[in-house]
Amino acid sequence: MQNNSRKKVRRKNPMLFCFLAALLIVLIIIFAFLAANSRQSTGELQAAYDKDAAFQPSPSPTVRLVSVTPDPYLVTHVPQPSPTPSFLSVGSEGEMVRQLQQRLKELDYYTGEVDGQYGSGTREAVRFFQYQHGLENDGVAGQQTLAVLYSNQAKPCPYTPMPQPEPEVTETIVVQTPAPVLATPSVPLMGYGASGESVVQLQQRLQQLGYYTGSVDGQYGNGTAEAVKIFQSQNGLSADGIAGEKTIHILFSANAKYITITPTPSPVYLTGENILLLVNRQNKLPEDFVPGDLVKVKDICGDNVLYASQNIQGVRVAVVALNEMIAAAKADGIGPWKIREGYRTIADQQEIFDNSVYTFRKDGQTKSQAISSTRQTVADPGCSEHHTGLAFDLNANNPDLPFADTAQYAWLQKHCWEHGFIMRYTDEKEHITGFLGEEWHVRYVGTEHSLKMRDMGLCLEEYIIWLDNQ
Ligand SMILES: [Zn+2]
Repeated sequence: MQNNSRKKVRRKNPMLFCFLAALLIVLIIIFAFLAANSRQSTGELQAAYDKDAAFQPSPSPTVRLVSVTPDPYLVTHVPQPSPTPSFLSVGSEGEMVRQLQQRLKELDYYTGEVDGQYGSGTREAVRFFQYQHGLENDGVAGQQTLAVLYSNQAKPCPYTPMPQPEPEVTETIVVQTPAPVLATPSVPLMGYGASGESVVQLQQRLQQLGYYTGSVDGQYGNGTAEAVKIFQSQNGLSADGIAGEKTIHILFSANAKYITITPTPSPVYLTGENILLLVNRQNKLPEDFVPGDLVKVKDICGDNVLYASQNIQGVRVAVVALNEMIAAAKADGIGPWKIREGYRTIADQQEIFDNSVYTFRKDGQTKSQAISSTRQTVADPGCSEHHTGLAFDLNANNPDLPFADTAQYAWLQKHCWEHGFIMRYTDEKEHITGFLGEEWHVRYVGTEHSLKMRDMGLCLEEYIIWLDNQ
């Protein structure tokens, strides 16, 4: 029906059809003309734009400019892929490890290179961080450790690194005000053993500031050296107990600080995994480290052994094992035994170290030369295993025979493992332990570990790595 009526209209109005067709043609011509004009007026910009026109259907130059301006919101809010492993441990690597090392470094636990490789240095730093924060110190950075580490509860490492040898200062003593300038003392620098008027002045000044409580006698003994050392450590100087130019200068200046009393540190109980506490040149204990449960060796071993000093101490569990070991040796007919060394405080070690440095300096060596000479035979304070209270030096009380040639040593080498002790320093492991063989030095680790170490032939450094990989 509708088709019919349309045909009718066309037929009835041929004139109207022709008119519409003509109008359409005119419109097309006008449009083409305008388009040609527009092309000319937009010039070069349009020409450049045309290159893109093929795949950008209907843009205008204005639209195109807007589209290339980066949207700051989009740029900053592009989601970053961030893999988050649940823990990091030896063998882990990458950005997370790098961040961990960076953070540990900020807090002074880590001194190594920030290289994104979780090696034994990182592990020890983590372990020490954990220990300082009451976390299980397994050296594995798990979620709990990471949460504490990146929180504002993370405490910086309490230990201050050993000062590195400094460039030499001319070693003349200049005693400064408030007292009138003193005659230069006859000793090249004031340290242990010095005496005279300049030492009196030193003691008086230290007393005034609260560092020295002994008598002002002009004798530079242990008390004076200790006071100088505390003064140095609290006044930003390297604490060597020697009153050199720099120390004297600050001590007698208005900038000298009064003593600050710090609370006694809490002891660390070496039980469980802590029994393997690694102390060596790379793994230094904090200055205020004190092992818990120290006892006098004599109180447990009684007359079973001889003593170089009646006051030698050790951690109870190790002293009990030592007593049992010596009883077993004696039952085998091997004796006598003498205990030469046990627990040593870091201050004791500092004193041994400083006295040695001072002796070398008096012999004309520079400070750095004296430190190097000392390190050949003396462990740095904090780096001696005797600080743990788990190590003992034994001998056969026979001054005519090297311990290595005694029946006691032969027995010890064979049986110490059965009692939880290890031969800590042997010549064959020197490249790992950093110490020459010390056949008289035993370290308690407990039979759970000592027997495995014997069977696998591993020193403590190697054993800890082995354990980590289990
Ligand atoms: Zn020793």
